[in-house]
Amino acid sequence: MENVVIIGSGCAGWTAALYAARANLNPLLLTGAQPGGLLTTTSIVENYPGFPDGIDGTDLMMRMQKQAERFGSRTQYGVNITRVDFSARPFKLWADDELIETHAVIIAVGASHRHIGLKSEELLERKGVTYCATCDGALPMFRNQPLVVVGGGDSACEEALYLTHFGSTVYLVHRRDQLRASKIMAGRVLSNTKIQPVWDSVVDDILDVKQDKVIGVKLRNVKTGAITELACAGVFVAIGHIPSTDLFKGQIEMDADGYITCKKGTYTSVPGVFASGDCVDRTYRQAITAAGTGCAAAIDAERYLVH
Ligand code: NAP
Repeated sequence: MENVVIIGSGCAGWTAALYAARANLNPLLLTGAQPGGLLTTTSIVENYPGFPDGIDGTDLMMRMQKQAERFGSRTQYGVNITRVDFSARPFKLWADDELIETHAVIIAVGASHRHIGLKSEELLERKGVTYCATCDGALPMFRNQPLVVVGGGDSACEEALYLTHFGSTVYLVHRRDQLRASKIMAGRVLSNTKIQPVWDSVVDDILDVKQDKVIGVKLRNVKTGAITELACAGVFVAIGHIPSTDLFKGQIEMDADGYITCKKGTYTSVPGVFASGDCVDRTYRQAITAAGTGCAAAIDAERYLVH
């Protein structure tokens, strides 16, 4: 029987593990399929306080893990939770056939990449369509080729800037004529001569499914309706994220988009189940705010278990 099981290993999960371990709760952290979470897919993190020169995303997560484990947090890799039952205590989690019982749960499952929703996008994934420039940008297929990044937020800007090291031209396709990204990122993108913004445009199709590789995109100007084609070897989709909360549907309250709704602090609709990080937060979604709510979740869990 566990005191507290933490599901997810991003900033929120590791911070929750650190605080829970230091509260002598002997936490068990289940990493999920992507140890370290989405931050491991970014390059340099420049806005996490304490690192004036920036820090590699994977490095930051490994440091958080080391710090949590130093105080006794236990880590289980590759555990695939298929079902949970929060209707009675102890709570039950099924990892394939194995049952884990626990007095408290901290959900820190984060979010995954939003897809455009095109059939061609699905068919050409890993054949030129990708959701992570840091992971895939250096592949030979993208070298000295025109590349498309879709989106107008910080992620899209970060991807576009990173891809300037590999592609010939990086087209930033955005559905409006203004970037959503922070001023500093937008400024860097707009002053980079290798990046060409394509405003007011959406990707209607990715070419070419028949050739089984990306050779271009079909764009639609949302203001004029004009359809154009743009040759490219890669499409990097960076249009935001969706919370990875399907597992908890019907068990705890969430909003229509799948974000877990917390009552007070990190308390979910089920006493003893706490939630933190990007699966709760549709507003801030920063590494530091995720870490902050992970800390809060561990404190809430500790107080809940004591009373
Ligand atoms: P985001 O801020 O939600 O931006 C998503 C972008 O994709 C927006 O420009 C949006 O357009 C566009 N978009 C959404 N759905 C679309 C669709 N179906 N088709 C076409 N375009 C679509 O997401 P994000 O860039 O991933 O950033 C998430 C959070 O992480 C933000 O808070 C961001 O500040 C943070 N972040 C920070 C950094 C950094 O500081 N270095 C790096 C990465 C992320 P509209 O603008 O029209 O809505």
